[in-house]
Amino acid sequence: MFARRIEKLKAYRTETTPARIRLSSNELPYDLPRWLKERIKKELAQIPFNRYPDPYATELREVLAELWGVKPENLLLGNGSDELILYLQTAVGELYEGVAYPIPTFPMYRVVADTLGRPVYEVPLDENLDLDEGAFERVLEDYRPALLFISYPNNPTGNLFSREKLERLRKKVPLMVSDEAYFDFCGETYLPEAVDAAQNVVVLRTLSKVGLASLRVGALIADEAFVKELLKVKMPFNVTYPSQVVAKVVLTEGLEFIRWAVERVVAERERLTAELSKMEGVEVFPSKANFFLFKTPFEADAVHRLLLEEGVLVRNVSYLPGLDGFLRVGVGKPEENDAFLEALRKVLKKLEAAS
Ligand code: PMP
Repeated sequence: MFARRIEKLKAYRTETTPARIRLSSNELPYDLPRWLKERIKKELAQIPFNRYPDPYATELREVLAELWGVKPENLLLGNGSDELILYLQTAVGELYEGVAYPIPTFPMYRVVADTLGRPVYEVPLDENLDLDEGAFERVLEDYRPALLFISYPNNPTGNLFSREKLERLRKKVPLMVSDEAYFDFCGETYLPEAVDAAQNVVVLRTLSKVGLASLRVGALIADEAFVKELLKVKMPFNVTYPSQVVAKVVLTEGLEFIRWAVERVVAERERLTAELSKMEGVEVFPSKANFFLFKTPFEADAVHRLLLEEGVLVRNVSYLPGLDGFLRVGVGKPEENDAFLEALRKVLKKLEAAS
């Protein structure tokens, strides 16, 4: 009954294991403050729940446009940026034209391509976890993919790829997607290029990493004509009424809180990576996002399992190409990070004693 390509598809795996301290999904560790939730409650009570939402999320687009210094016409909102990855791959290029991206990276580029039956061209990162420019050039020239997806910074490695390499590579592809899910933790962006119709870049952003993962709001930033064309494939009411209302309140009245939380995470990222680097045998890969990779002298599976026994959930990424032995940990609140450090010290001692 199902298409062959769907039978072959591997569903995207999310981490749902319960744990006291969850550092596995790159979320913001801080929930919204009580006063802001009270404001949200009031706004939610005003919603006519029997009515469909604004299909264009006009008011929320205005708020985001002002925040990012673009025009509302430059924005198309999605049910998370996941949905926008689907729209881009549905609309850009013919389905027989492929989609290229480095690996390891965010798995949804592949899931969406496989769902649509588009060829994928996966180029392994080099030994510094940067783009392998020569290999990429060959793929772009030989197979002429329609789209190049770049997670900027990259999930799960946390680094920003060399901008010089990206500048040269994007000349060889019709469209580059700069997926800036972690933009707020680094500030590096392709936004000026994205709103310029003469350039071949579009940007993806999301509210998921800055405290609003529950809402499922993502944004595509592109020139007006691009947005207009892509609107043809948008599901009519893809961003729910409550999501539009809550995001608007938080991004206007709660902006100071979000900025405080993001700053805190960045500071904790630096503290945590410094502390981990001091641990005997632990290797840390520097990050520009709200998570980072680390490696110990022991099997990643064992470290992951024993950390979970201590109540700390991290992501085991050691099965991914080039990441043998690595685990990915999200930056939490200071007390969660301390608990993680303590748990890791304990786990390493245990494994040391057993070896
Ligand atoms: N892009 C990247 C690089 C991500 O890491 C994620 C979330 N893990 C997404 C996109 C999806 O974000 P959203 O919650 O907006 O669908």
